[in-house]
Formats: sequence, structure tokens, C-alpha cells
Amino acid sequence: MSARPTRTCLPPSVGFVGLGSMGGRIVERLLAAGHPVTGWNRSPGRAEALDAQGMIVAGTPREVAEGADVVLSMVTDTAAVEEVASGPDGILAGLGAGKVYADMSTIDAAASRRLADQVAETGAQMLDAPVSGSLATLEAGQLAIMVGGDSGAYERIRPVLLAIGPKVTRVGENGRALEMKVAINLALVVQVVGFCEGVALAEKAGVSREAAVEAMLNSVVSSPVLNYRGPFVLEGRMPAEPFADVELQQKDLLLALDLGRKLGVPLPTAAASNELLNACRGLGIGHHDFVVVYDVYRRLAGVAE
Ligand code: NAP
Repeated sequence: MSARPTRTCLPPSVGFVGLGSMGGRIVERLLAAGHPVTGWNRSPGRAEALDAQGMIVAGTPREVAEGADVVLSMVTDTAAVEEVASGPDGILAGLGAGKVYADMSTIDAAASRRLADQVAETGAQMLDAPVSGSLATLEAGQLAIMVGGDSGAYERIRPVLLAIGPKVTRVGENGRALEMKVAINLALVVQVVGFCEGVALAEKAGVSREAAVEAMLNSVVSSPVLNYRGPFVLEGRMPAEPFADVELQQKDLLLALDLGRKLGVPLPTAAASNELLNACRGLGIGHHDFVVVYDVYRRLAGVAE
């Protein structure tokens, strides 16, 4: 009996724009899952580090899009996405029929929808695919990804997204995943601020910080985000590489406040939390992980260092 030729199903090639704290680690996971990855970063040093791990370094975002079936981007904010997408060297210039572009950054949903319209003009399809979780969640292979956009395009890139994190959910049409993400981050910031407020109150009352943090984390208010940020409050020092610094986290809170204003939804606890983040920046500690809000409470309440 003659042997049948074996059909091998190659994983789709992936292009990645933005190799920051999140993007760089995502590329490592994609490479480990066997995807050929071509990447680009504004500051070349970050791309060179991944070159050694097998990523092909592209000269422009356009080159990334030209060479890949699935194009992903993860940069800081709305302005950064617009910058990497547009112009003669941008992602849009390299897209074409059959390609899917998913932006994983946390940005303004309306701007993302406008970009999706521009992507459609190239023959490609765009999805918004923001993530929930931190660097620790990503490294543990637990990142959650929400997707907005066409269900067919979603099904096509789902296997790629599953190589990044195990919880992938399509939440609706374009922009819906970003609206969901902003709503989640609002709840996350309020929760961390509430934790800091509670620990400061207990500590000023005479409970040791160790006992206060331990009791909080053993109580019903415990959560994944408090479990990985609580230890920084306990140690009294912030991680050298923030999970998300004050500036980055405040960007998301401002997106939520803006959406609330547009939709007529009052967000009073988000507004109060935003003031605490303002205080962090005013005190010159905005470059730290945003759980540094504890430091603001400690100073305001006169809790010893
Ligand atoms: P990051 O480490 O600061 O990386 C930001 C990336 O954006 C870098 O690659 C940076 O390039 C690039 N960038 C910024 N402005 C740019 C511009 N104008 N043109 C081209 N590239 C530009 O941030 P991150 O933590 O990876 O976050 C990326 C996105 O993921 C953000 O939208 C954030 O809200 C979201 N997110 C983050 C977390 C988290 O825990 N960190 C969790 C969920 C979602 P350079 O290297 O040249 O500066």
C-alpha cells in the first residue's frame, strides 16, 4: 500500500507592531507556539531582543502587514495606534484582501471603529482585541482577550489568540470589546484604590501593615488583582517594571469617564479614583505601578513609612 502524502497545516504567519511590556511577551508566546512572527517596534532595541528568539525584524509597520496573514498591534494609546496604522509606512498600506488586523491596545472605541472602516477599504478586516490581565497573568498563560468585530474574522484568528491566552471571547461588533475593557478597568482601578484606602485606615488605627494586607487578602474582597498587587503595598516598594504605571492606568480611567459622559452614565467612584491618580502624578510618583496610590493615602493620613 502506498503511503498517502501527509497534509501539514502550517500555523498562520503573524505580524506584530509594538513590542513593549505586553507586546514583547505576547510575541514570545506566539513564537513558542510555533507561529512565524515578524515584528516592528518604534525603538529598535526591543525588536533586536526578540530577533535572538526567532522573530523576524521588519523595517516598518507596513512591512509587518505585507508579510503576515494575521496582523496584531499593541501600543500605548489611540494616538499611537493611529500613528502606526497610517501614512506610507503604516499598517493600512500593507494590508489587503484576506488579511485580518486585530489591535490589542486599549484605546477609544470610536477611533477603533473609524480605523476598522479604513481597514475594510483595503479588503482586509479589523477586530478590536483588548486584553484583561497583567504582565504576570500573561506570563502565567492566563490572559483574557475580548474581541469586537466580524464573527468570521474572529473565527479565523481565534487559534492565534488562543496561543496568547486561554480565555478568548467575542463580545460583539467593532468597538464593543474596547467598551467592555474600559468598563473592566474602571472596576479594577476602583477596587485597587478601595484596597489602599482600607489598608491605610486599618494601619492608622494601629493594625500592622502586614496584618492588614494579609487580612484583606484572606477576606471576601480578595481578588486576582489584589493578590498580585497587595504584596507591593506590604513590602512598601513598587516593582522595578510596573504591571501598569499610573499614566497607563489613568488613560483607561479617562476613556471610561469620557464614555460615561457621552452615554450619560454617572461614574462617581471612577471620578474619585481618577483624583487619586492625579495626586500620584502631582507627587512625582506617576511612573510607578498604580498601586502606589497607597503612598498617597499614607501621606494624607500621616501613616508612618
Ligand atoms: P508599554 O510597555 O509602555 O509599551 C508601549 C508600546 O507602544 C511600545 O512598544 C512603544 O514603543 C509603543 N508606542 C507608544 N507610542 C508609540 C507611537 N507613537 N508610535 C509607535 N509606537 C508607539 O505598554 P504596555 O504595558 O505594553 O501596554 C500596551 C497596551 O496594552 C496599552 O494600550 C495598555 O493599556 C494595554 N494593556 C496593558 C496591560 C499591562 O498590564 N501593562 C494590561 C492590559 C492592557 P517604544 O518602545 O518605542 O516606546
